Amino acid sequence: MSRFLSARYSDIEPYTPGEQPKSTAQLIKLNTNESPFPPSPNVIKALNESEISKLNLYSDPDTKDVVDALSKTLGVSPSQIMMGNGSDEILAFTFQAFCDREHQPCFADITYGFYPVFASIFGLQPEIIPLREDFTICAEDYFNKNKTIFIANPNAPTGLSLSLSDIKNILQHNKDNIVLIDEAYVDFGGETALPLINKYDNLIVCRTFSKSRNLAGARLGFAVSNEQVINDLCKMKFSFNPYNINRLSIIAGREAALDTEYFNFCVEKIIKAREKTVSELKKRGFFILDSKTNFIFARHPDISGENFYNALREKNILVRHFGNERIKDFVRITIGSDEQMDKLIIAADEILKENKK
Ligand code: PMP
Repeated sequence: MSRFLSARYSDIEPYTPGEQPKSTAQLIKLNTNESPFPPSPNVIKALNESEISKLNLYSDPDTKDVVDALSKTLGVSPSQIMMGNGSDEILAFTFQAFCDREHQPCFADITYGFYPVFASIFGLQPEIIPLREDFTICAEDYFNKNKTIFIANPNAPTGLSLSLSDIKNILQHNKDNIVLIDEAYVDFGGETALPLINKYDNLIVCRTFSKSRNLAGARLGFAVSNEQVINDLCKMKFSFNPYNINRLSIIAGREAALDTEYFNFCVEKIIKAREKTVSELKKRGFFILDSKTNFIFARHPDISGENFYNALREKNILVRHFGNERIKDFVRITIGSDEQMDKLIIAADEILKENKK
């Protein structure tokens, strides 16, 4: 830390992103919930020399091309959508716009690790609501909080999902507060809250192109809400970084949003690979939470989460382990290609053989 850093940031513990190794040539990378598939062929075609040669010009601050494409695909008005530089930026703007001393944030003890970091950088005191013993969310715990509520649905890193009726209940019991539903993983089997947007003016749905649309590197996320709330979020964006989405990402997003066929193909493949992996790992004694995402959260009675993580790492398979006491026995494994998952199973067999109790 330099002697110049503002005192208000001196205690902040930044978010630790999953490792992004330089060379992934021999590595099976199952640690950051990316898609194993390339972007839509239409994205690759559209990012041509002619578009690259326009990089001397600023991008469209209204990101109209990608907003219109999403509007068509999702069936909501363009005025109900705002794009972010990843959904992380949407989350940041939401904390900034809708949290303060009178409206502190609240979220689960086990959820996306960036929520506490945003709370801390914006000088907030979040209320942390423990998940139940079985890692599910108890909807009643979120009733009448008078706080800004953040819920990842499906949740990460558990992979468990909350029903639409529970979300409706939470919205109903917090009519004067914003409820953000983070649907980063919803396309892999969760129930979206999008149909509730026009019924509840306190709802923000936060989505990303990083998982089911194979564009983690393009950094594209978006918020869907009513026009007034979107205008509030735009106020944050236009006071911070009006050109938050670069020219190439706007094009990539437009093409990815419109290519429903490729989207369905990839999502179906990942769900199939997930179900097969779960069934194979369960046969080997793993306990796995019921995942509705592109990752699974698994533990085995014979080996600690940390040791399993390290043993896989030695075999060039990278997964994610979290040190938090409640979940330290688990590892989070991103669902990759069929071939990658076959290799994971072979590696698990070898590790379990060496660690048999
Ligand atoms: N929400 C959740 C629950 C996540 O796991 C992630 C991915 N790390 C994000 C939001 C942010 O994703 P991105 O910024 O790539 O859209």
